[in-house]
Amino acid sequence: MKLYHDKLMYEHNTLALHARADTFACVTNDAELLEALAWARTAGVDVVVLGQGSNIILAGDVQALVVQQAVRGIEVLDASDTDVILRVAAGENWHKLVQWTLQNGYYGLENLALIPGTVGASPIQNIGAYGVELHSLLLRVHARRIADDKPVTLDNAACQFGYRDSVFKRECKDQLVITAIDIKLSRRPSVNIGYPALAAFFADRPHIEPTPQAVFDAVVGIRSSKLPDPSVEPNAGSFFKNPSLRSEAAARLLAKHPDLPCFSQGSGSVKVSAAWLIEQCGWKGHRAGDQGVHPQHALVLVNYGSGSGAQLLTLANKIVASVYEKFGVALEIEPRIYGFNL
Ligand SMILES: Cc1cc2nc3c(=O)[nH]c(=O)nc-3n(C[C@H](O)[C@H](O)[C@H](O)COP(=O)(O)OP(=O)(O)OC[C@H]3O[C@@H](n4cnc5c(N)ncnc54)[C@H](O)[C@@H]3O)c2cc1C
Repeated sequence: MKLYHDKLMYEHNTLALHARADTFACVTNDAELLEALAWARTAGVDVVVLGQGSNIILAGDVQALVVQQAVRGIEVLDASDTDVILRVAAGENWHKLVQWTLQNGYYGLENLALIPGTVGASPIQNIGAYGVELHSLLLRVHARRIADDKPVTLDNAACQFGYRDSVFKRECKDQLVITAIDIKLSRRPSVNIGYPALAAFFADRPHIEPTPQAVFDAVVGIRSSKLPDPSVEPNAGSFFKNPSLRSEAAARLLAKHPDLPCFSQGSGSVKVSAAWLIEQCGWKGHRAGDQGVHPQHALVLVNYGSGSGAQLLTLANKIVASVYEKFGVALEIEPRIYGFNL
C-alpha cells in the first residue's frame, strides 16, 4: 500500500474541487485495507472512506487519511432456477456491475443503470432511480470496523434503509469501511416500468418490448439526454434531497401552489420536488463566478472552473434560505460534506 501525502483531490471528486487530503491511500485488497487502517491508528488520524467521489463536497482540505476502497470482484454465492445471489466487492464500479448482471441473465438492477460511483457507496444513501432503490435487492452489507478491523455483517433490516438514507449515515457514520454487498437478483426477466418517465417512454414506443435490456437502454438514454456529464460539467448529481412533508403540510402547500409536483410516500408523508421549489425561486441557470445552477436542472449545482467547495456551499445556503423564505420548506444537502470544521 502506497501512502500519498498532501494529495490533490481534484481527480477524486466529480465536482472537480481543488482540495487536498493530508494523506491518501488506494486499497485494492483486504490486506492493504488493514495496513491503511493500522497506519491511521498508529498516526492517530481520522479515516475518511472514498469511492469515486460522486457524492461528496470538499469544502476544504481533508485532515485525515483518505482511503479509496478499490477492492474488486464478483462472486456467485448461490443460484437457483429463479434467483441468483451475488457477492460484489466494494470497489466495483456500479454501472459496470449493472451491465455485467444483464449480460449474465441476472435481472433487477436495470433501473439503476448509469448511477456513478462504487458498489461500496451504494448502501450509504440507498441509491435509487427510476422507481427502484437498492434496498429492494440487497441482502447484506459486509464491512470492517475502522476502530479495530473487526469484520461485521449487517442484514437488510439492520441497514435501516430510507429515502437516500441508511444506518451508515447515522449510528454507523464514519465507523465502517464497506468491503462487499450481497444482492439477490432474478433469473426470470421481469421489469419495473411504473416510474412515470419510463412508463411514458414505452407508451410512446409500443413497438419496443419492455425487456430488461430495453429498460436498461431506456434508462441510459433518458439519463444521458437529461443529466449533465460530470466530466464535462463537474457536478455531484442532485445537490438537494426531495423534502418529505407530512401530508397536511403538503396539502396546504399544494392549495397555494397547485403545480407543485408531489409523490405520496404512504404512511402520511409526501415527497415534494426540490427542483421545482428551486426553479420557482429563480435559481435555475443562475451563475455566480465559476459556479452555478445548471440551466436545465435546478437540482444540479455545477463547478464550471476553479471555484472552491466553500463558495459552492455559500451558493447552496442562499438557495436553501430563499426556498425556506418563499415556501417554508427546509432543503437538505444530499452529498456528504468534508473539509474544514463544519
Ligand atoms: C451525475 C450524477 C448522477 C447521480 N445520480 C444518482 C441517482 O440517480 N441516484 C442516486 O441515488 N445517486 C445518484 N448520484 C449520487 C452518487 O452517484 C451515489 O451516491 C453513489 O453511490 C456515490 O458513489 P461513490 O463511490 O462516488 O461515493 P463517494 O462520493 O466516494 O462517497 C460518498 C459517501 O459514501 C461513503 N463511502 C463510499 N464508499 C464507502 C465504503 N466502501 N465504505 C464506507 N463508506 C463509503 C463516503 O465516505 C462518503 O460519505 C449521482 C451522482 C452524479 C455525479
